[in-house]
Amino acid sequence: MHPCARGTRCAARTKDGPALSYRPFCDTDRSLIAQAIQGMPLLYAAMADLLVADRSGGFAYDAVRVTTSQGRPVPINLDADASQREMAEILVSWEERVRDVARMPALDTAASRGQRLGVLIAQAVTVLAPRLDALLALQAAPMVRGGELVDLDGAGAGLEILDVRRRAVARLPESGGDDRPLSVPCGGCGWRGLIEVLDFLGHLAGARCRQCGHRYDVEGLAELRAATLRRAARRAAANMKGDR
Ligand SMILES: [Zn+2]
Ligand SMILES: [Zn+2]
Repeated sequence: MHPCARGTRCAARTKDGPALSYRPFCDTDRSLIAQAIQGMPLLYAAMADLLVADRSGGFAYDAVRVTTSQGRPVPINLDADASQREMAEILVSWEERVRDVARMPALDTAASRGQRLGVLIAQAVTVLAPRLDALLALQAAPMVRGGELVDLDGAGAGLEILDVRRRAVARLPESGGDDRPLSVPCGGCGWRGLIEVLDFLGHLAGARCRQCGHRYDVEGLAELRAATLRRAARRAAANMKGDR
């Protein structure tokens, strides 16, 4: 067994470090990667909504105006656009690698070039989702990243897919949620002012402090909870001694 490839960000880590597994990732992170792949088309659609919302002036994002062939200026959310490209590039490059080891016909790159990004992403998901273990077991091979050749293996695939999802989700507006308060005191100000932050699908994405504005991602919130529990356990142990 070896430590989960997510290392210090392993979702199943303990105080002794990342979870141990026979596979590149622990079971928890493996299922997070599976969910990230399956959720990619929906996330892509959410980014597309963001672009449309921008055009109608629904959100106040950093928008630039570009002139289309009709000469009509259209504001484009560069972040959402870049996210969509990143999702497609990364998924399609791993789709090519998996097609290769699964002895599937190679991707028709000439035909892909004319395709919409959403179609490419949906197609990559149909190849990758049922072949997750083949993807995560890939040997290192050179792939193009940022104009350079980098050796990437299956662990790299899992990390990239989680990263691309995290970056895209971070660009989406928070869904309102019902501001559920949390019982853990804020690590920044010490007040019990934390409320849940949900992602666009309504899943827990972290917390925000109403008192000092400090933000926690899911990992940060888990750490805060664990630290609070440890303090409570120490206090309880100290009280027991005092009682005797
Ligand atoms: Zn893990
Ligand atoms: Zn605070």
